[in-house]
Amino acid sequence: MANTIKKIGVLTSGGDAPGMSTAVRAVALAALKQGIEVVAIYEGYKGLIYNNIKPLKNTDVLNFINAGGTTLLSDRCDEFKTEEGMAKAIATCKEENIDAIIAIGGDGTFRGATDLSHRGIPTIGIPATIDNDITSTDYALGFDTAMNTNLMLGDRLRDTCWSHARCNVIEIMGRGAGYLALQSGIALGATIVAIPECDFDEEAAIAKLKAARANGQRSFIIAVAEGFPEKDGVPYGEYLTKRINTETKAEGAWIDTKFCRPAHMVRGGAPTLRDRLMAAQFAEKAVELILAGKSDCVVCARNGEIVETDISYALILDRMYKGKLKDGDLDKFSEEQVEAMKAFCAMRKAELDKMYALANLLA
Ligand code: ADP
Repeated sequence: MANTIKKIGVLTSGGDAPGMSTAVRAVALAALKQGIEVVAIYEGYKGLIYNNIKPLKNTDVLNFINAGGTTLLSDRCDEFKTEEGMAKAIATCKEENIDAIIAIGGDGTFRGATDLSHRGIPTIGIPATIDNDITSTDYALGFDTAMNTNLMLGDRLRDTCWSHARCNVIEIMGRGAGYLALQSGIALGATIVAIPECDFDEEAAIAKLKAARANGQRSFIIAVAEGFPEKDGVPYGEYLTKRINTETKAEGAWIDTKFCRPAHMVRGGAPTLRDRLMAAQFAEKAVELILAGKSDCVVCARNGEIVETDISYALILDRMYKGKLKDGDLDKFSEEQVEAMKAFCAMRKAELDKMYALANLLA
């Protein structure tokens, strides 16, 4: 199998993340060095369906190293999920003599990678999402850059909050996951951090805020994950802002509180050092796996090592962690594997709880 790979395709898909382009560059350079042809598939899986494909040479990718967004563009392509769309994608691979694919993205992208692998196009996934919520890997590309953007924005809010003795609630992206809000919150010295995965006592949080003000604290930052359940029909961060203003004003000890939603601003920007290094390591491993004849797996960071995991295992592990297992999901796994998955999920939750305790300790 190893020497049958002559041409690989690389694509980025789903939500964009800083570091995607860096990974494309590294995939291309690592493969070209081995004498493998590389083609760029534009706009994710849509480019496979509509044959939006161009060869990549060394000189094409040099400036990909610090590109924000994704130079190969992305798309959320529902057609790819249909049998017809999949058949077109496979036909394009045959037409273009693409022997294998490296797909950079999140869990949706990995589902697509599995479908391709099962239809004879070996595909390897590289994790990339600013949410860093892919359970099987300690790290996904884009997370560090997004956190640094949160720091830059949050530090600016801190300056003006201090000047005017204010509080600022920042709603931090992450879909259903609170990693980005939690770690950014710690790094911003947030007085309150609210994430969906951990218990949050609103009354205690408000009491803490008021006590800190009474004790002389001039300004405050509050980090709320976008995935925290909404209240009174509005996103939780907006609700909390309103409650603090209304309540403290009525009590004659107003904590002037503003709301900020950086939203997609944190998706852009040049990748940080960490994202560039991780992109390089993930890409090197992905090319190595492709050349070793592997298929249907995702590269993962674990305790400082870059390892591989079967996509089906990674996806089910993810569902288990997020409490979204469906009937039959565990059927094809042995008892030992299921136990290992449960232990892994418990380890992930313990990691998160520890970090959340730290956020509260330092708040
Ligand atoms: P992400 O990869 O960031 O999680 P999405 O969930 O939007 O983003 O998935 C990206 C793309 O992957 C989708 O637009 C679609 O083309 C493909 N995809 C997602 N889910 C599936 C699936 N179940 N089967 C095949 N392809 C899928």
